[in-house]
Amino acid sequence: MKLVFERSRPGRRAGSLPRYGLPKADVPAELRRRTPPRLPEISEPELVRHFTALADRTFGVDTGFYPLGSCTMKHNPRVNERVVSLPGFRDLHPLQDEEGAQGALELMWRLQEILAEVCGLDAVSLQPAAGSQGELTGLMLMRAYFADRGEAEQRRVVITADTAHGTNPASVAMSGYELRKVETDDRGNLDLDDLRAKVDERTAGLMLTNPSTLGLFDEHIEEVAAIFHDAGALLYYDGANLNAVCGISRPGDMGFDIVHVNLHKTFSQPHGGGGPGGGPVVVREPLEPFLPVPAVVRDGDAFGLDYDRPKSIGKVRGFTGPFGVFVRSYAYIRSYGPGLREMSEVAVLNANYLLAKLRDVYDLPFDRLCMHEFVLSARNLKREHGITALDVAKRLMDHGFHPPTIYFPLIVPEALMIEPTETEPKETLDAFAAALRAIAKEAARDPQVVKGAPHHRPVRRLDEVKAAKRAVVKYGFDEHPDLSRTPSEGEALEAQKGA
Ligand SMILES: *Cc1c(COP(=O)(O)O)cnc(C)c1O
Repeated sequence: MKLVFERSRPGRRAGSLPRYGLPKADVPAELRRRTPPRLPEISEPELVRHFTALADRTFGVDTGFYPLGSCTMKHNPRVNERVVSLPGFRDLHPLQDEEGAQGALELMWRLQEILAEVCGLDAVSLQPAAGSQGELTGLMLMRAYFADRGEAEQRRVVITADTAHGTNPASVAMSGYELRKVETDDRGNLDLDDLRAKVDERTAGLMLTNPSTLGLFDEHIEEVAAIFHDAGALLYYDGANLNAVCGISRPGDMGFDIVHVNLHKTFSQPHGGGGPGGGPVVVREPLEPFLPVPAVVRDGDAFGLDYDRPKSIGKVRGFTGPFGVFVRSYAYIRSYGPGLREMSEVAVLNANYLLAKLRDVYDLPFDRLCMHEFVLSARNLKREHGITALDVAKRLMDHGFHPPTIYFPLIVPEALMIEPTETEPKETLDAFAAALRAIAKEAARDPQVVKGAPHHRPVRRLDEVKAAKRAVVKYGFDEHPDLSRTPSEGEALEAQKGA
């Protein structure tokens, strides 16, 4: 495929502007550009074909099944887009006065109320724009809370599970806490003995997702909470897995004090590849004074922004947070009516259905009822045929599926982490299970085919070591570069010179 710059021909245009009737602006000479901007010159049909060809090479939930565990790639209902582009929302300015933004403020206030109810907690800040930012915000709240009690110097340690998402230890480090990891026992729960040995008066809190990234609900969660609360510490819930429990169980009832919710996962939102996200934090009442400003508040029939929080940790993002995400998530929640529970029930049912269809061909490290996702291992294929989780993932692409999450959580060798979500029909789950079963068979019969996959994609298997060690980072080929080919020494040198 050619770059749009390679398709460019002088003088071609995709549209024409009327001659301007305004006087020339008096731009100071030193600020005027001397050369015209280097923009592609291209006709509209060529431009449309260019972007359509790019889109054809892109895989997303709209092209096929996308069972990326932990990432919750569910269908994004089109009604969300209708709602978010209503002029009253779309044309709103972030600095609009409150009187002219009552509808938007009411939507945010209602979303706060729903999140508090779903989490079983008291107060919400919608500001953080991603799960990871919610984590950082939550840990800053934890620190502010202990500082207020004069315990900030004493409580320096935050505990995470060895199954934790990578953002958890990263957030602990970024917020200045010391990290301590607790092991998982052989049923996939937090190891209580290990936990007891690690919690003491230096502990600020626990950071946990439940169900865990193994897709398992911790069987001793109330005991875990008691261990921390008895030590005067707080419990933080990574709510990226809230998809499994909405309307069924609540983090607040389990004993958690701070939660972040991944709106873009649990409540739908086109995300991934840096797409927009929302990571609101929800807290128990004693932590409310520390929440970011402004809070969206209600006074009778009027809604407004409250900046009057002297103990607030401040702002973590501009204005009130990622508003479009709020609208889409609110639309998703309301489309279920009063029965949000149905969303989680179907997500869990779909995961268990798929697990039942696959458990005899891939290893199942923790044999329990799963929640909204589950983790298989390809270690049996590796042992018997030299086929890895990566090979399985690449071969799935030939079957037209996005691979699941692989090599995570870290405690499972050759992990395949699968999350079907509630928006997939039985036929899709059956087709996906059939593909994974066919690959397991193929691994025994014809392992080279699996090792060489993908065979039917624009880009074949990359040599990942060479891609890292001898990266050609500059596009410098006249024709479509063959990415699966190792660049010659000369090409690599050229690329370096050009960079
Ligand atoms: C996705 C995820 C996060 C991070 O959320 P982002 O919005 O990607 O920053 C944290 N924890 C878990 C378990 C996740 O799945």
